[in-house]
Amino acid sequence: MAVREIVSIGHPVLREPAGAVPEGEITSDEIQALVDDLVETMRAAGGAGLAAPQIAVPLRVFVVEVRDNPRYPYKPHLPLRVLVNPKVRPLSEETFEVVEGCLSIPALRGRLRRHAEVELSYLDRTGERHVEQIRGLSSGTFQHEQDHLDGVLFVDRVEDPRTLTSWESFAAFQAERDGVALAAFD
Ligand code: ZN
Repeated sequence: MAVREIVSIGHPVLREPAGAVPEGEITSDEIQALVDDLVETMRAAGGAGLAAPQIAVPLRVFVVEVRDNPRYPYKPHLPLRVLVNPKVRPLSEETFEVVEGCLSIPALRGRLRRHAEVELSYLDRTGERHVEQIRGLSSGTFQHEQDHLDGVLFVDRVEDPRTLTSWESFAAFQAERDGVALAAFD
């Protein structure tokens, strides 16, 4: 296991659609090492999620986990999940406004909308299929990570670029503003 370098916006791998992992290769040493490195790198960076393209691996794999995270004290706990070849499907038209950040876009946050309720379909690290329904802030985390597999970054979804803010300014001027879910993602 190793903590890998997280690449930042402008790196071409973040803009390419990632490739599916062949199902027969999920339990290979290579993919298992990738999963271990994603988990270790996410934890080292204090992130709530991390997608393989963020460590320059163009494959459809991401991990999410929220434990007691001092960066996101308002985020609900989320047990570790490893998602291989995931699909994320909105279950309703309902959306909510969030303020997101990204480990690949250092020091920037912005406002956007995410679906309030989604269905996840994915394979875990043993190749077993799972289907789950997720609501609320946690559902936004999965949508953020799924976007990374399609070459999409949160800044693409910010409707008003004037909402972009540094973390420092967010804490100073916006954190107390009501009506917005304070959700930073990976
Ligand atoms: Zn991100």
